[in-house]
Amino acid sequence: MQLNPISFSLVVVVFVAVALATMGFAAPPRVAPAVAAPAAAPVELQVPVIVRSDWTPQTHAGARTGQVDDVVIHHFWRPSLDHVAAPADEMALLRQVERSHLGKGWSGLAYNFVVFQSGRVYEVRGWGREGAHTKGVNAHSVGIAFAIDGDRVRPTDAAWQAAKDLIEDGVAAGHLGDDVHVSGHNEHAAKACPGRHLVPHLHDLEPATA
Ligand SMILES: [Zn+2]
Repeated sequence: MQLNPISFSLVVVVFVAVALATMGFAAPPRVAPAVAAPAAAPVELQVPVIVRSDWTPQTHAGARTGQVDDVVIHHFWRPSLDHVAAPADEMALLRQVERSHLGKGWSGLAYNFVVFQSGRVYEVRGWGREGAHTKGVNAHSVGIAFAIDGDRVRPTDAAWQAAKDLIEDGVAAGHLGDDVHVSGHNEHAAKACPGRHLVPHLHDLEPATA
């Protein structure tokens, strides 16, 4: 079918009019959910945290803290598992450290999260719970331990990125405030923790503020 220019223009005008009318009807229901979605949808997290019940029967949890602004970094000081360690080995090491802490009469592993060289992150106390990792700071901080001897071993890129992403996830989910301050255990006590390979770089773990 051949359309002369006038008929063609007419077709275009009718098409546009119909399209606008349709959008006028269709737009509100389509747009409304799209606008509402970001608030309603769960926050997209970057780090798949391995939940505590996957690696230990211990359930002791600290008091609720709500949102906090401080993150305190620790190391494990003991020989490190390398980046190709299997989850089962990482879990066994976690339980071993937990046993040693329980043996001292402590309430179990007292960090909020532990990051391994593989880049895997394990929940211990988790978000919004008081740990027992840094005297005087526990009630308003999240304690993240790198499962390495930070005096002898550097964190892998995977571990470092995981910690960075975990902190960003904490902010995105509202467990951490918008102005996160990352410090080392050494800044709160006369300790070498988290070791010379981590201490100079801790500031890099702070999310860039917009
Ligand atoms: Zn420490």
